[in-house]
Amino acid sequence: MAQNDQSQIESCYLCRPLSEEFATAARLYAEAVVLLTANAANRSWQEHRWLCHAAEQARRRAEVAGVAFEGHLASHHDRLRQQQPEAEDISRYRSSR
Ligand SMILES: [Zn+2]
Repeated sequence: MAQNDQSQIESCYLCRPLSEEFATAARLYAEAVVLLTANAANRSWQEHRWLCHAAEQARRRAEVAGVAFEGHLASHHDRLRQQQPEAEDISRYRSSR
């Protein structure tokens, strides 16, 4: 069952670009925060504001990418559940007895 889930996900043409975008966006956000916080005291206010803005943009990009990735994966599992109603019905029937 778990292996079946995995092969379905790997064969999907959307999983890879969505997961890569999420990972890249999250990494860029982390890097933006590192830049923002490193040597913060020695920086001009204008430079600080610019880095804050860049970090906020990166955070939003990561958030959007995360929502898209999660939503897409959830759609896989919804589809798998619909494909295997009998198996679920049988296990529900068994556990109810
Ligand atoms: Zn997929």
